[in-house]
Formats: sequence, structure tokens, C-alpha cells
Amino acid sequence: MEYTDRILEYFKEITGIPRESGNEERMREYLIRFAHTRGLECRTDSVGNVCIVKEAAPGKENVSTLVLQGHQDMVCEKTAGSTHNFLTDPIDYVIEDGWMIARETTLGADDGIGVAAMLMILGSELPTGKIECVFTTSEETGMDGAFGMQKGFFTGKTLINLDSEDEGQLFIGCAGGVDTTATFAFNNEALNDDFKVLKVSITNGLGGHSGDEINKGRMNAVKALSTFLASEDGHGLQLVSIDGGNKPNAIPRECSAVIAVPDADATSSRFAEFSKALANEYADTDPDVEFGILPAYSESPAVCAQVTSAFLKAMAACPHGVIAMSRDIEGLVETSTNLASVKMAGDGKIVVVTSQRSSVTTSREEIAKAVADCFRTGGAVVEHHSEYPGWKPNPDSPILRACVSSYRKLFGREPQVKAIHAGLECGLFEEKFGGLDMISFGPTLRGVHAPGERLDLASLERFTAHLIDVITNCNQTV
Ligand SMILES: [Zn+2]
Repeated sequence: MEYTDRILEYFKEITGIPRESGNEERMREYLIRFAHTRGLECRTDSVGNVCIVKEAAPGKENVSTLVLQGHQDMVCEKTAGSTHNFLTDPIDYVIEDGWMIARETTLGADDGIGVAAMLMILGSELPTGKIECVFTTSEETGMDGAFGMQKGFFTGKTLINLDSEDEGQLFIGCAGGVDTTATFAFNNEALNDDFKVLKVSITNGLGGHSGDEINKGRMNAVKALSTFLASEDGHGLQLVSIDGGNKPNAIPRECSAVIAVPDADATSSRFAEFSKALANEYADTDPDVEFGILPAYSESPAVCAQVTSAFLKAMAACPHGVIAMSRDIEGLVETSTNLASVKMAGDGKIVVVTSQRSSVTTSREEIAKAVADCFRTGGAVVEHHSEYPGWKPNPDSPILRACVSSYRKLFGREPQVKAIHAGLECGLFEEKFGGLDMISFGPTLRGVHAPGERLDLASLERFTAHLIDVITNCNQTV
């Protein structure tokens, strides 16, 4: 109880420190000051990572070093009407019915609560071996801190990552990923005088995270609209513009296109049929999708016929969704791809962004190549970027055994052992430094990365008890 309260106090303090990804200076200063006022060894590096060391308690000098790790930054999202300024304002929250809830913004419990837990431990007299607390930067925007970290920044070989959001679940693996971008260059073509211009759109899909939610059967608006347009190509369509999706890691919720067609009525009735079939297909998993087709006006010319055909064929052929499930861990998506966005880039270019994930490196490479080939065949220039490695589960991990038996002892039930189909910094640590024994767990958070993000306070108590039990008892036999 007491330790949980201390974590909560630290976390409340942290909610007052602006720390958007890339803007973590004040958080870093806070951490350095924290270490100095307590006489703790503290190091930083050129990318803003901080490591604070708690020396072993008397009698624990022979216990091998344990690394605790979380990220300093937070995702900064707010509601449409909010006047919150993430560069200056503290996060406004309420505590209600056992939850700590941000009012109009993200709460930043991802990963402020992991940071707060480390501060509690660093400031405590808990009887542990030597502990290195590692605070990374810009995890949410590409794991820049973990990417930039040099060998030797921490020395322990057992690492507990505190950046998971389901209490009672222990994570022992994650997916690696890569983004694949295709650029189509085109010439302009005049709109046919006899053609009618239409704006067709698919909107209001649920979307979601392209890792965690790729297996939920949600509609991909970009994929769906492209499929319709590809079929209209056979009826002589001219494509003026297309715009859909946003971030590489989000399933696109909407897509619209301006087209010109020889027979607007025929196109409209084919679209109505297409919409009906699609609404049926997604009646259970994405029920509120809306379809629109309206007369429009365009001053812009069309994309030349040749590129239009090649582009739409490639979009229709490009895979989206789950490619393979894991055979080792039930229910885990092993490999997936997200057809994330399509935009007119100006100067005669259409840019398509896709994102592939897999816990198996060769499978990730295979699906990224398949997507790339699909667009290259259509004449696009393709690039891969933002690659990060996965973390392969080790069911025989000593830290996993310690965490499972501690959980069983404390709560009389089994924790779930899982891997996630999303990225964690653990994958990078393993690739860069090697020979690490790692696990990830945390208290329950809901709605992370969105306004109204909340922290389950009862789960925070269990998390605290579990973490303390593990760090005071693990690594003893080394
Ligand atoms: Zn996080």
C-alpha cells in the first residue's frame, strides 16, 4: 500500500512535466536532479537516455545486477476542443471509481507509471541487489533512445521492461517491423469533357493499432476503396486524386477519391452494390462504416491512364491484415501487413505507405518483399525504412520463472505468459547488446495513445507488490 502510494505520488509529479517525444529535456533534468539529491550514480548519453544506479543493499553485493527500464516520453493527444498545450501545461486528471483518468488529453501512464515505479525503487531502502534504472527517449516515435544507446550504458544481463499495459500478463516477446513506401510518378492527362466528376468515399471505420488490432477484422478503408476503383478502371475511370489513412501504425479509417467517369449513374449503382456487400462483410466487426458518392468538381487534371491502371492494380493486389499466426503462442499474430495510407504528394506523385510486422525476422523480410514486389511490378519506386528488430520468446527464461512463481505466491493464480504483435524496446536491446534475459509487465492501462487514457489503481497495487517481490528475490543464485 505504502509503496503504491509513493509510486502514485511520483507519477502525479511526472504528469506536471512536459515530455512529448523529442521534447524530454525537462524530464531528463528532473531525473538527473532526483539522482543528485539522493547521491545516486547517474549517467546520460548523447540521445538523452538516463541511467540511475542503486547500489546493492548490505548483504546483497553478490546478487547479479538487475536492469529496470521504461521510456521518458509520452504520446500527446487531446480532444478536438481542448486548449491544452503539451509544451507548458501539466496533465489534468481525475481519480474516479478506482481509475486515474486524464480529462482531455492522454494521461502519459504509458510510460510515466513505469518511470514512477523506478523512482520509488531508487528512493527506497528495499533490500535488493544492484539495480540500474534506464530511462529511454522517444520510444513512441521510433525508439530513438534505444536505437542510439551505446554498449555499456547499462551492464546488467537481466532486464525488466515496465512498458506493458495489462496487469496479470507477462510479456516475453514482441514483433519486429519495417515500413515499406511506394512512390508512383505520373504525367497529367486532361479530364475527358464528356465525363462526370465524382467524389467517392469510405469513412467512419474503427481503424485501430496495426499491431494489437490487426486481427480484429476491421475494414481497411484504403484497401476497400482501391479495390472498387480498380474494378471501375475496367469501365474507363479517370483518377484525379486519392487520399486515405494517416500513420503507418494505424489501420486506415477513411479514404476518398475524386474520379471522372463516362457514366455516373452506372458507377454509382456499382458503388451501391459494392457498399452493400462490404457493409455485410463487416456487419459484426466494423458496423458503422459509411459510404458516399457525390457529384464533384475538379480543376485538376487526371493521373495518366497508364499509371492509374498500374497503381490501382497494385493497390488491389497488395495484401493487408494477418499473414500468419504463431504456432508456439496461442492467439498471437506472428506476421501481418498494414496498407496504411495513400496520398497525392504534389509534383506528379502518389505515395503509398505500408507497414509489416513479425516476431520472425525472415517472415518479416518475406512479407516486406512481397509488398515491395507488388508495387515495383506496377512501376513504383519502393523503399524500406524505420526497421526495428523483434524479440523472440524464450519460454525457459530465468526471469520469467522468477516472475511466474512470485505471481503465483502473491495472488494464488497463474499469470498469463504472452508475446505482443507490436514493438518493444527489448527487441533493440537484444539485437544491440545480446545475451539478455528479459520480461515486460506493468499495471493495467486503457485507452493509451488517446485522450481519456486511464490507469487502473487496483492493478497498480498488484503490480507494485509483484515488482517488489521479484526485485528483492530474483537473481539470488548467481
Ligand atoms: Zn509505451
